[in-house]
Amino acid sequence: MNTARPIALFDMKAQQALIRAELDRRIAAVLDSGAFINGPEVRELEAKLAEFAGCGQAVGVSSGTDALQIAMMAEDIGRGDAVFLPAFTYTATAEVPLVLGATPVFVDVDPVTFNIDLADLKRRIALVQQEGQLRPRAVVGVDLFGLPADWPALEAICAEHGLFALDDAAQAFGGALHGKRLGRWAHAAALSFYPTKTLGCYGDGGAILTDDAERAELYRQLRTHGEGKSRYEVLRTGMNGRLDTIQATILLAKLSLLEEELKSRARIAAQYGEGLRGAVQVPAATPGADHAWGLYSVLLPEGTDRARVQEACKAAGVPTAVYYPKPLHHQPAYAAAHAGSITGGPPPLPVSEMLCQRIMSLPMHPYLTEAEVGRVVTALRAAL
Ligand SMILES: *Cc1c(COP(=O)(O)O)cnc(C)c1O
Repeated sequence: MNTARPIALFDMKAQQALIRAELDRRIAAVLDSGAFINGPEVRELEAKLAEFAGCGQAVGVSSGTDALQIAMMAEDIGRGDAVFLPAFTYTATAEVPLVLGATPVFVDVDPVTFNIDLADLKRRIALVQQEGQLRPRAVVGVDLFGLPADWPALEAICAEHGLFALDDAAQAFGGALHGKRLGRWAHAAALSFYPTKTLGCYGDGGAILTDDAERAELYRQLRTHGEGKSRYEVLRTGMNGRLDTIQATILLAKLSLLEEELKSRARIAAQYGEGLRGAVQVPAATPGADHAWGLYSVLLPEGTDRARVQEACKAAGVPTAVYYPKPLHHQPAYAAAHAGSITGGPPPLPVSEMLCQRIMSLPMHPYLTEAEVGRVVTALRAAL
């Protein structure tokens, strides 16, 4: 057994130590100002986020889930609408269309990139069109674990069928494709600032990025109860979806570290890749894509007892996690909507099901040392 400090799956303390004085100063300034809602720091952060992504507009909101919801509300997505999204993702991606009365149509994912499978997407759009029960309205592409989905292809499919393209970039802020950062792809991108994401606050937060000024204006309305130019004029049914000033000021401090942190994540991923290639399926290097490395997830060999591997890693001081143990179409809350999404029964989702059996995530944060990554590699190889 080693006596080194335990390895963290995510580590927010090392980062905090670097900027603690700035955080204290910034938080104190908000406490002094009393502008807890819509303070100037929110607008300052929005400008910096747009600059970082290279997009025209950023709208701060209360969470990644609310970012998805506001983006769909702005398109009037609701009853009778089909929203296509991967079956292998976080629950929020599917929850939002259901909350709005729309129907999620689960699409299988690619076994190498873990992102939405284009051929299966086209097949399901055609099935929904043929049936005529639901109106195809939107595709939510998820940049799972930080790897950008195939946005040029997804944008082309959406353009062909007149669909709204929404990027769920909650795990991938900082990622890029063909030199364009996420936030410039799709009609809009949803970010989450949940503490463990690539850019996280100390609570809940999110943002919507877009190049479309009209959409951004709608997002600003919707996050504030659909309010118009004057405080008590309600133009549309909105929600309370604002980003707190305190979270915005925390994010401003953290954003200054992000560029370097993304480089560290990439360096750590490269070390994992070298150490683990051949033992497990390591994440794909997709041509033209800059992975944000929100998570580092490997595919264990078929037939591996994952629980036993996790136990052995844990005994060696290496925490692991499973994102995700169950595909969304098998979740009790979504199974009925799934079954009803395509009459006669939707086609199976074999890759999503297989991945849920074999996926496993390793510690990933920018402050892992080379020695720690080495310990993870050794522990996992020994556990297999
Ligand atoms: C984290 C996450 C969300 C939701 O973000 P919250 O800020 O927790 O609401 C949505 N989609 C994906 C893929 C996520 O990983």
